[in-house]
Amino acid sequence: MSLLSKMMPERGKMQNHSTFVKTTGMSVTIKKFTFNGFQENTYVVHDESVAVIIDPGCYERREEEELYQYIQTAQLKVSAIILTHAHIDHVLGSYAVCERYKLPLTLHKTEVGTLQAVQSYAAVYGFPKYTEPKDDYILLEGNEKLEFGNIKMTVFFTPGHSVGHVVYYLPEQKSVINGDVLFQGSFGRVDLPGGDLETLKNSIYNIMFKLPDDTVIYCGHGPETTVGREKQFNFIHQF
Ligand SMILES: [Zn+2]
Ligand SMILES: [Zn+2]
Repeated sequence: MSLLSKMMPERGKMQNHSTFVKTTGMSVTIKKFTFNGFQENTYVVHDESVAVIIDPGCYERREEEELYQYIQTAQLKVSAIILTHAHIDHVLGSYAVCERYKLPLTLHKTEVGTLQAVQSYAAVYGFPKYTEPKDDYILLEGNEKLEFGNIKMTVFFTPGHSVGHVVYYLPEQKSVINGDVLFQGSFGRVDLPGGDLETLKNSIYNIMFKLPDDTVIYCGHGPETTVGREKQFNFIHQF
């Protein structure tokens, strides 16, 4: 555990259960689950029939079941499984979820190396049963407009925390699934391989802070916040 704490200070004492988060607008729901020892937030974004799974961090069987049960109960068809980035805490369930829904994993083209490195350190981090997802990826370039049912998302390339990090902006829901770029009051660490502070600052100031102030930021760890709030109070201003 000390290794985990040292490697991932963003790991905090968050609630252990999933939280229901709902946004209005075109009946799109953003459902948050909190999974694995890193308290990573996995999101299911869905309308009445179609779902996208973002950052499947489920590791234990019961975590997988919680995710599958939700999708089954809501009678959703999973249309895509996508990553903000490929650090271990965000991909622990990627193999199982891709197999279950018979879908390839979608990620930024420059994040493939980050993903393929996970197997080499998973056991050291305490996740010996991690399995690498199949490499028939769908690769993103950035700036795509993705559409699944009523879900409309723009992909923004936001490197700095990892080399190929992206965020998914939902303008109609005034929301962004931001992975580990911003947290409430803080930002993603830059000391892991592929991390770079100046690059992250550029992503934060030139992409995240250019979104409307009332945009809700759904973070890879911890609670939601807004662009306006982080523009005012985020710790990044100290750097
Ligand atoms: Zn990360
Ligand atoms: Zn993370």
